[in-house]
Amino acid sequence: MLFSRAFIPTLRDDPAEADTPSHRLLLRGGFLMKVASGIYDWLPLGLKVMRKIEEIVRQEMNAIGGQEVLLPVVQPKELWEASGRWGKYGKELLRLKDRKDAEFCLAATAEEVITTMVTKHVRSWKALPIMLYQIGTKFRDEIRPRFGILRGREFIMKDAYSFHATDEDAERYYETAKGAYCKIFDRLGLKYRPVEADSGPIGGSFSHEFMVLANTGEDIVVYCTKCEYAANRERAECRDEQALRHKGTKAQGEAAAPQDVHTPGLYSVEDVANLLKLPKDQFVKTLFYWANGDRPVVCLLRGDHELNEAKLKRVLKIDDLKKMEEAQYVKLCGAPVGFAGPQGLSEKVKKTNPKAVVVGDHAIKGVADGCSGSFKKDYHTVHLAYGRDFKADSYEDLRFAGEGDACPRCADGKLAFQKGIEVGHVFELGIKYSVPLNAVFLDAQGKSHPMVMGCYGIGTSRLVAAAVEQNSDANGIIWPRSIAPYDAAILCLDIDDPKVKETAVKIYEEAKKAGLDVLLDDREVQAGVKFKDADLIGIPLSIRIGKRGIAKGEVELKLRNSKTPKFVPVARTLEAVPEELKSYSVQ
Ligand code: ATP
Ligand code: MG
Repeated sequence: MLFSRAFIPTLRDDPAEADTPSHRLLLRGGFLMKVASGIYDWLPLGLKVMRKIEEIVRQEMNAIGGQEVLLPVVQPKELWEASGRWGKYGKELLRLKDRKDAEFCLAATAEEVITTMVTKHVRSWKALPIMLYQIGTKFRDEIRPRFGILRGREFIMKDAYSFHATDEDAERYYETAKGAYCKIFDRLGLKYRPVEADSGPIGGSFSHEFMVLANTGEDIVVYCTKCEYAANRERAECRDEQALRHKGTKAQGEAAAPQDVHTPGLYSVEDVANLLKLPKDQFVKTLFYWANGDRPVVCLLRGDHELNEAKLKRVLKIDDLKKMEEAQYVKLCGAPVGFAGPQGLSEKVKKTNPKAVVVGDHAIKGVADGCSGSFKKDYHTVHLAYGRDFKADSYEDLRFAGEGDACPRCADGKLAFQKGIEVGHVFELGIKYSVPLNAVFLDAQGKSHPMVMGCYGIGTSRLVAAAVEQNSDANGIIWPRSIAPYDAAILCLDIDDPKVKETAVKIYEEAKKAGLDVLLDDREVQAGVKFKDADLIGIPLSIRIGKRGIAKGEVELKLRNSKTPKFVPVARTLEAVPEELKSYSVQ
């Protein structure tokens, strides 16, 4: 491609709206152009990168038996009603009407469409397993579209769906898909981690997310510094670890009798801890919820811990959890707002509502000389001991893991946090969709069963940006080799010099013949602009051809991420290029 003919609208300055390196560099480098919030034009350079990613994804999906399809972006309401998601999928689902007032939505995902499609054809166990995938446009009306294509409203996703006769076969394939994902991200040259993810409250199924590690990521990866354990923040487990002893505090069984202390107008753990000069982890806090709208649930947590609602939902096996309003919990437990505590709480709430339960996080069992509300306005109770003064109906893992917590898997590892961008998700769906959508097959005995499903997503457009988040410097993008828009840029530094131009064109033609994808910068601009643009666009290798070099019979080869150029005789240029590219470290 000739740069003078290419549609590469690079910008001199950073666009004002750009909030992360990838957003800034993809706009500046002429890869993307904004059309509306979360909606972008894919320009030739951007599309080239995305197509390379798609091709790698396609090859690895085919390698595990996937067959490519293309499903509609406009999907009828009826399919989503059949699965029960028309009502559940909130405002992210963009709904529209046709001229006859029939309702549709734009594809946010495709479980309904594909399951219906497969059901029409597959009747017998003999046709299973089957895996179908597509690489296509998705639309989600995200509340906060941001970081350019990292969280767009319109984006491209590879979504794959597998159908199996048995749980075992679905589980086997889940591991196969995970393996394929690792191959994909390895080939893309990215640093990533597969992490355990929350698979929703209705147990049985499991899921993993693939995170590209980057400081600008919106997700938190919780990982063990000793073993292989890694999970997302929602999922990360906490060990049932109770020992907690501060200098000056009592051990279990040593606390003095509970005593009320005056804490006028102070409700929060923070404020009361400051007043009483007690560490926050010596507090027990009470949190009131409605489970499925009608069952009161009170959680007991240590003062320094935060409730993980996804864990609570899983424990209760529900998907509808709402915070209780103040007036309702006052009525339920009899304490004024901000002064509830764990003492006798289970009996109190059950008296008002027999369905109520008190669930404690494991860590409260370590509180031996604690503090909490006293059920009286403006008073807290100190010297509360677990077991002696308070208990819960049951104990569960309810809190978010913290940095430095003990690893839930190995003996002496500690948990650490790292930021990441979710680029892929593998999910064991079980029979969640096949039952409502009646996706059944007959086994060898002629008995009908719902198909067991898995689904596997990769954000192919998000990956373009994720790769930039991981690979850039002050001058621009540094593309991994496998997805770079061009293999090399030939910079003709003195375009008015016939000898220089002739050499550049010759090398360009030979490079194309040799199968290299090259961009010849033949623009009538200063050499400095060419250096800058080649760096900004992030092409792995530049072949610099100028008057001074030609006079000596040589050209300069420079890798995007190396400081030292290499000089080679003009005639040896094409031999040297593959060698140079081999030593490009962003593979
Ligand atoms: P997130 O938590 O980031 O919103 P998600 O859990 O909604 O992601 P999935 O429904 O699992 O995502 O979709 C599969 C993949 O599609 C994700 O792993 C991600 O790479 C990509 N993706 C999801 N939402 C967006 C978006 N708004 N813009 C770009 N890519 C997205
Ligand atoms: Mg989402």
